[in-house]
Amino acid sequence: QTIEVGSSSGTYAITVGKQLRMTPYRYLPDHFSRKKNRLLILADETVASYYLEDVRAAYAEKLPVHTYVLPAGEAIKSFSGYEEVLTACLEMRLDRESAIIALGGGVIGDLAGFVAATYMRGISLVQMPTTLLAHDSSIGGKTGINHPEGKNMIGAFHQPEAVIYDIEMLDTLPEKEWLCGFGELVKHGYIGDQHLLEQLKGLNQYATFTISDELLASSITVKKEIVHQDEREESIRAYLNFGHTLAHALEQTAGYGVLTHGEAVVNGMVFALYVGRRLGYGGPDPAEEIQWLRAFGYSFAPLNQMNPSQILQAMKRDKKNRGGSIRYVVLANLQQPLIATLGDEQLLTYMDAFKK
Ligand code: NAD
Ligand code: ZN
Repeated sequence: QTIEVGSSSGTYAITVGKQLRMTPYRYLPDHFSRKKNRLLILADETVASYYLEDVRAAYAEKLPVHTYVLPAGEAIKSFSGYEEVLTACLEMRLDRESAIIALGGGVIGDLAGFVAATYMRGISLVQMPTTLLAHDSSIGGKTGINHPEGKNMIGAFHQPEAVIYDIEMLDTLPEKEWLCGFGELVKHGYIGDQHLLEQLKGLNQYATFTISDELLASSITVKKEIVHQDEREESIRAYLNFGHTLAHALEQTAGYGVLTHGEAVVNGMVFALYVGRRLGYGGPDPAEEIQWLRAFGYSFAPLNQMNPSQILQAMKRDKKNRGGSIRYVVLANLQQPLIATLGDEQLLTYMDAFKK
């Protein structure tokens, strides 16, 4: 399946399918190999151990290829990780005609993307996502690193030249990581594709750990459409934040790494459904959603155990707020997200009431 994406810096293709890593040039723009002089493939140790050699050999058929392997985990999405990769780029003599290939999940994608956005004021980037979550993070052009004071605080918009999503690589993804990415599929279902949501609900939970390119393409399409209309998050791109205001606060108060992002998002979405109902809107019944999501392996303990005043404080530090009040994405109905502005007292009341 190929999805064309229009962006301010031109169109690019997202291709989803099996074995794509073996013939990447087929999914790159024509002339890619003639226009480039060399490539740098970035991967973390885990992904490298499974797939780097295949990918390197495939690219090396046409161009000189360098590789650089980083430790796995969020810690490399930092100033020091960024500096380390820039140094590698300089040592490998990459220039404006070179391209960076991000082979990995959202961590490698964001870091490699930020390097590509800033090295020599911007060079080409190709995303090769390897996690389920990266079906989300590899599209839309957001790249960046973390600051000790907050996640994703330093970054740039930089659209890839292509996204090559070989879903065969998902076969080695651990279950925990699977559930992390699945939360974003559910999110895209709620905010933009009822059919997708129904298909996800209908998946046999024991067979969940394989997913079709069709479902992934539907999920990608929801994000693509929103980003296409609002690349720089001036308006509706904020809908993609559905479930994330509480999720970020839960992650922060639990300490990063304690709670997986997917679990936090699923908890956040259920609470957002509840808030929507309290505001008088329609949308799915949170109690029913909890049931099927729990059957997939998600825990709702974070929501039941949250400390409302602590959560409120964490929410207020969110960089997406404007002028003090909290902007909350709720559903007027399925596929109808909207942004509600909530006062502190109101949110505290809802959190207390939800826990009961
Ligand atoms: P990740 O890249 O750290 O991958 C998770 C783990 O899975 C890692 O340990 C990795 O080594 C391993 N892994 C990756 N692919 C594998 C495979 N095929 N087989 C076996 N193991 C594999 O994390 P992630 O969940 O993919 O991404 C999280 C990051 O994405 C966060 O930093 C988040 O901020 C970012 N993000 C960015 C955007 C965006 O729009 N740019 C959107 C959402 C999230
Ligand atoms: Zn998310």
